[in-house]
Amino acid sequence: MANCVFCKIIRKEIPAKAVYEDADILAFDDINPKAPVHVLIIPKEHFASLNEIAEDKREVLARILIKAPEIARLKGVRSSGYRLVLNTARDSGQEILHIHFHLLGGRRMAWPPG
Ligand code: 5GP
Ligand code: ZN
Repeated sequence: MANCVFCKIIRKEIPAKAVYEDADILAFDDINPKAPVHVLIIPKEHFASLNEIAEDKREVLARILIKAPEIARLKGVRSSGYRLVLNTARDSGQEILHIHFHLLGGRRMAWPPG
């Protein structure tokens, strides 16, 4: 997607601090972190949100979940704990319309979220 910020990060047109990358997914530090560790994990293929992923494309979601513990380990929070957040559409607060998981950690977090 030409004008998508996260597609631009994938194409390296916008700089980002990469944490993990493979053929299918990219993880990078959030520019405005909400916790000491705040990583965004995205598929390299553009989907606006969970609502826009076709049935035959959903393996990439499993791949992100399977890789999350390794990404947490790379950031030093695998054993202390972390939270994965997938905001979808307006009421969740999703702002960037390229599906992304937030991986948050490094401090105790409230539950339930506000
Ligand atoms: P959302 O509100 O859509 O769930 O989360 C979007 C996230 O993307 C926010 O936490 C925001 O700080 C982050 N973000 C927005 N633009 C950029 C950018 O250009 N670079 C990086 N690294 N993060 C961004
Ligand atoms: Zn995109």
